[in-house]
Amino acid sequence: MTDPETPSPTFADLGLPQSLLSTLSELGYEAPSPIQSATIPALLAGSDVLGQAQTGTGKTAAFALPILARFDPAASKPSALVLAPTRELAIQVAEAFHRYAAHLPGFHVLPIYGGQAYGPQLAGLRRGADVIVGTPGRVIDHLEKGTLKIDSLSTLVLDEADEMLRMGFVDEVGKVLERIPADCQKALFSATMPDAIRRIANRHLSNAEHVSIKSKTTTAANIRQRYWVVGGVHKLDALTRILEVEPFDAMLVFARTRISTEELAGRLEARGFSAAALNGDVPQKQREKIVDQLKRGDIDILVATDVAARGLDVERISHVVNYDIPYDTEAYVHRIGRTGRAGRSGEAILFVAPRERGMLRAIERATRQPIEAMSLPTASDVNEKRMERFHESVAEALESAEMARSREVVQSTLKATGASLEDLAAALALMARGDQPTLDEKPGRESSGKPRKFEAERDNRPQRPDRTHRPERAPAMDEKRNYQQKRGRDADGNFVTYRVSVGHAHGAKPGNIVGAIANEAGLSSRQIGRIDIHDEFSQVDLPANLSQGALDHLKTVWVAGQQLQIALDDGSAPPPPKAKRGGGARSEFPPKKRSGKSFERKGERKGPGKPLAESSEKPSDKPVGKPNTASDDRKKAGKPLNRPPRNRAERKAAIANRKRK
Ligand code: AMP
Repeated sequence: MTDPETPSPTFADLGLPQSLLSTLSELGYEAPSPIQSATIPALLAGSDVLGQAQTGTGKTAAFALPILARFDPAASKPSALVLAPTRELAIQVAEAFHRYAAHLPGFHVLPIYGGQAYGPQLAGLRRGADVIVGTPGRVIDHLEKGTLKIDSLSTLVLDEADEMLRMGFVDEVGKVLERIPADCQKALFSATMPDAIRRIANRHLSNAEHVSIKSKTTTAANIRQRYWVVGGVHKLDALTRILEVEPFDAMLVFARTRISTEELAGRLEARGFSAAALNGDVPQKQREKIVDQLKRGDIDILVATDVAARGLDVERISHVVNYDIPYDTEAYVHRIGRTGRAGRSGEAILFVAPRERGMLRAIERATRQPIEAMSLPTASDVNEKRMERFHESVAEALESAEMARSREVVQSTLKATGASLEDLAAALALMARGDQPTLDEKPGRESSGKPRKFEAERDNRPQRPDRTHRPERAPAMDEKRNYQQKRGRDADGNFVTYRVSVGHAHGAKPGNIVGAIANEAGLSSRQIGRIDIHDEFSQVDLPANLSQGALDHLKTVWVAGQQLQIALDDGSAPPPPKAKRGGGARSEFPPKKRSGKSFERKGERKGPGKPLAESSEKPSDKPVGKPNTASDDRKKAGKPLNRPPRNRAERKAAIANRKRK
């Protein structure tokens, strides 16, 4: 087994052509990820590759770049085919090819997946594409119709192969493997390596280069590790809440690309935080200056890439936030090692997108330490903190030598306006808040910020939703619960029954529903219970602890031409109106010209069967921190802020201003 090299090479070292190097630089990619360092040279050399890699490791670029490096504008047939388990992944991979091919005029990639009308796919195939990215069922359809030819294919990629097998595509994958030319290069990527995958690899891959990501197995015990599953609130808003509520000294935030470090630092600054970006493009002198500023406390937040943070040793870093998940466990261990320096304790926070949970588990396994699910601070927490800070600023101002002069201003204003003392104080507080409200408007609409899923799932302790920690529940929810009890499906507290808007009439099969739910909510098949398919809808038993974020997402997932519109089943909701037929059994995309009406399910919304995700439980995605551009401009211009200083840098600037006067 070949492990990715260390120290990490550059993209140029891997043998990629200049056109691709320029694109990668424009995208802000600084260095290849470990899976890319190991895979790209092997694929460029023509070897088959068996890669154990999951989402988040950079595997898409690992196979896309070598394919693009061999792009021949004169070729008339597709040179590469990528099989992906879901339409979402197929689209995502096709988009990645498109992005990386920015400097390859004439390159065409075509995604083909079930559920989409054949017309545009046939037109695309007729026009000719260099790379096809497709779901197995639809690829086989086209092969059997003769509308897709793979007789001159030079590379076949099986992406997320374990997922394809789990979704029942084993025959389709086998058929494709049998139809490709004997000398076609094959790359198989899989997050896990069950026997079935090994059998395929043994049978169809020749002298394959084995590639896996490194696993480092140490973590400092003085670092508390927490994770938050991205959902309901954008990452930037989540980070803003953490910054507002969590006591920290200095924070190091990791982002993947040069561009994202700059964007994020800029947005944090606009929200009133003292932040700077550190990436491979920052010249050494400037880097030293930034690190000094961080050490002195002139900057509190550094947004960095892995490359730029190498060797960073600043004692005051109390928090490391993995805003973008690291490529592997080694990078994670390296990142969080930037805190907890000199015997201090440190905090590490990891943002995990639902699709990246494989990496979370890999990190836990490798570090042999559990990572706690964290509660995102609620808007009420944020308000409380803002109030505290406001009280502190007032207390500070009360101590100021300028109070006597200020009192005169107040007396004169009272006279001039005829306002009461309380009204005048309220008006001054309003002026002091600047662009950031002292209080966020609707804290009540907020999620509790409790750990939202996965914690229980990882503990193998499926739990019933904890009502005490949820916001107000509509009375109908209790009726639903009774119905659930009656069905006896949750007798052991593990499962509750949901209703999805897809049934026999739409051509749904249990496999489609299981596949979509497992894939999109990241559940194992063990976690999906009984499925009853009715004509117009189906009932499916799912873990009682399924998070609101996962449910919200599942509402929008398409199966057999229908959006799942998942809702807790109380038995009382009228069956959804007869919906239009979409694609076939494996339809994975909204059919064209679909009338939105058939998905409104108005009857259901009005009645007690109101979908869970539309109840008051919906987490607020309202940004808490508002861009503070006006204040920011004032800050830059060295003008006094029209609100109390919020951080050390602002306090210093205010003192300097006062001295200047
Ligand atoms: P993947 O694991 O292929 O789904 O990629 C995850 C994310 O990492 C995508 O958003 C890519 O754009 C990004 N990415 C992949 N390789 C790199 C790299 N070498 N540097 C920075 N970002 C990357």
